[in-house]
Amino acid sequence: MQRPSHTNQPEVSRRRMLRKLAAAGGAAALAALGAAAGLFSQRPRVVVLPNEAESSEDAFRPRIVSRDEWGALPVDHTARNEGGLYQSGVNPEGWYEYAGDLRDSYQTLVVHHSAFYKADGRATLLEAQRLHRRDRGWADVGYHFMLDVDGVIYEGRNLGVRGVHTQGRNTGSAGVCLLGDFRFRAPTPAQWSALVVLGRWLAAELELTHLAAHSQFNEGTVCPGARVIEQLSALADQLGLGYGIDGYIPAAPRL
Ligand SMILES: [Zn+2]
Repeated sequence: MQRPSHTNQPEVSRRRMLRKLAAAGGAAALAALGAAAGLFSQRPRVVVLPNEAESSEDAFRPRIVSRDEWGALPVDHTARNEGGLYQSGVNPEGWYEYAGDLRDSYQTLVVHHSAFYKADGRATLLEAQRLHRRDRGWADVGYHFMLDVDGVIYEGRNLGVRGVHTQGRNTGSAGVCLLGDFRFRAPTPAQWSALVVLGRWLAAELELTHLAAHSQFNEGTVCPGARVIEQLSALADQLGLGYGIDGYIPAAPRL
């Protein structure tokens, strides 16, 4: 199957791909990009996460606990603040499924913290999803991925759907949440490693250009906490990404 015809910027995409190759280096990166092409060459109505895909050549592929595995509640399309499907000019806050190739939709990885931690990762996930659905009125948990203190990576809302995690900058931003409060305490080494591994995979799969802290986009928050923020510039370097919000390009609605 060919890539969708709206992918009409081959030069830009090629430059981005080459930059990724330069950053990641070598055959492993090529393999990762090959896997990415396979994963995202079709309409991403429901994106198959890598551990569920058949490809095994991607050295960066992390294990991701699926929604079914952690017992996520289903999506609520009657939600008061994210109800129904997105419709340009009619229902701009609705459930927005990215059209076409996700590599053309995403630019920035935005890092968050949950600011609370329950008894364990799963309990924290369920609380986060409950808060987002009940208190915020969203259709689902707002983040695309969540990482617990043991370094377990959990699937949040489907990557083929716009997140709700960075006010006014959700379109084109992949949201990753470190579970816990990192204003005064640093993440565990396992949790940080999970962020590195997941970030490396997302950067390659989605051809991201930037990594940013939530607080860089929304000045009213300290999320993801000073002890995370102080490490993010180095993480961006490690992943071959620019640091900050300069790379944010809102994806044009495609409906
Ligand atoms: Zn945040």
